[in-house]
Amino acid sequence: MSDTALRQSVIQACNDMNAHGLNQGTSGNISVRQPGGMLITPSGVAYDQMQPEDLVFVSDEGEYASDAVPSSEWRFHLASLRARPEAGAVVHNHAMYSAIVSILNKSIPAVHYMIATAGGTDIPVVPYATYGTQELSDYVEAGLKDRKAILLQHHGMITTGTTLAQAMWLAVEVEALAKMYATLLQITDTPPVLPNIKVEEVLRKIESYGLREKN
Ligand code: 13P
Ligand code: ZN
Repeated sequence: MSDTALRQSVIQACNDMNAHGLNQGTSGNISVRQPGGMLITPSGVAYDQMQPEDLVFVSDEGEYASDAVPSSEWRFHLASLRARPEAGAVVHNHAMYSAIVSILNKSIPAVHYMIATAGGTDIPVVPYATYGTQELSDYVEAGLKDRKAILLQHHGMITTGTTLAQAMWLAVEVEALAKMYATLLQITDTPPVLPNIKVEEVLRKIESYGLREKN
């Protein structure tokens, strides 16, 4: 894929995120792994105004052009790529139900077998820290060591994927699981969850499942 096509695919994913109701306004950000660093969305630019040249290359050491304004969350995007060596893309947003569950400081338990798409028996919530900080980045790096997706307390979600399409697909799944869980919590304080042994069975089966790339 050419550099311009790659930049356009990131902008398209940003617009899709809003169109799918996963985000509001200029919240959220997306990065894709590049040799020696990543390409990340700019800070505070409306997605429908974003141009390919607005995306910023940030090196693995956290360096970028002096006139560039990368997403304020560039630290946790680099941390996510460090935590998930297989990941080619990272998606962050403030999807409504994911944010609601994160505000309750709850991890999403195995209320549905699709929990396994995030790589474990739950989708954990990592502690709150101010956006853009090294502290938040450290929480993210620890949280993503054994999951492909996490919630950020009082904030939103992060998903990773081998491709941008996979990370976007997982973001839609996480939000659906959060919506199920938040809705269940309105009915009962203790929604039934699948036993770990059943989720582990799905984990083994689902490893190769996901959005298939069609040529
Ligand atoms: P940016 O506009 O700087 O990417 O920040 C949005 C956001 O979601 C902060 O957590
Ligand atoms: Zn955010």
